[in-house]
Amino acid sequence: VYFAKIIKGIAGFYYCIIFDECERKGQIFACKAKGIFRNIGVKPLVGDNVDFEITDTKDFEGNIVKIHTRKNALIRPAVANIDKVVLVLAVESPSPAFYYLDKYLINMSNAGIKVEICWNKTDLNMDKALEYAKIYTDAGFKNIIASTVEDGGLKTLKETLKGEVNVLAGASGVGKSSITNILAPKANMDTNTVSRKIERGRHTTRHSELFMIDNDTFVFDTPGFTSVESPTFDKEELRFHFNEFTKYEGKCRFAGCMHINEPDCAVKEALEKEYISESRYQSYKKMYEEMSERRRY
Ligand code: GDP
Ligand code: ZN
Repeated sequence: VYFAKIIKGIAGFYYCIIFDECERKGQIFACKAKGIFRNIGVKPLVGDNVDFEITDTKDFEGNIVKIHTRKNALIRPAVANIDKVVLVLAVESPSPAFYYLDKYLINMSNAGIKVEICWNKTDLNMDKALEYAKIYTDAGFKNIIASTVEDGGLKTLKETLKGEVNVLAGASGVGKSSITNILAPKANMDTNTVSRKIERGRHTTRHSELFMIDNDTFVFDTPGFTSVESPTFDKEELRFHFNEFTKYEGKCRFAGCMHINEPDCAVKEALEKEYISESRYQSYKKMYEEMSERRRY
């Protein structure tokens, strides 16, 4: 058997790239997942690490015999064993949707998935890029400055992707495909070492695919924001998910201050002094209100 990773799935075939240190390393086989999976109800996902047996060396076909235990799995897109999500935003055109961004960051962190933020199109407005990066550094996230149109504009992004399985998420138009095309120009396409089925699959619809940048670095670019099943928490805990608020915790007049309507609130004072960003605070307030309105049964 060979140890491999599923890089895409089309029409009942899973495309598996061999990881073993052997003469077949890097070859891609179209594999079926027969038998056991239907019985135990586990469907292979892109990103799964598997064992497979070769059934046809000429046509690069095989059969998956084992799915290795998953570290995690996203729901949309359905992809397993993610090391992190890099959320790509454009500094402008389109301008960032901050409320969704803030909500998303909380959901992902709460689900235990590492998120980093990549500010793209910084060639259009570097001042804004630095301003946004500062806000989200204070919020506790790693920020990457990027541009696909400038020489070396993806250097920092490349460094942060290295050695991990990454999902590039983000709204349409922010530059995800431009980034993937630069970082993985070959797009898993070495026709001498690839199943012929992958060729046929290419020209149909656009499929979810993990692109290999190097032997241990993968990117998966996906339209929209990814989603996870996120455990919910009480609205009283929401404030602890805003990293930049926490250093004021305990300094408000009231113990357990929610930083909304209470007098002598240290967070609101920090907001007035612009130590806390207005958009982050507004997101907090809006989320808190949404959580208050949520019906309880
Ligand atoms: P996607 O929908 O996220 O995959 O975005 P695309 O990669 O298709 O890019 C959307 C548009 O933004 C295209 O017209 C790109 O040429 C443009 N674009 C992508 N990256 C940059 C960038 O760094 N700077 C500028 N000025 N334009 C960019
Ligand atoms: Zn307060």
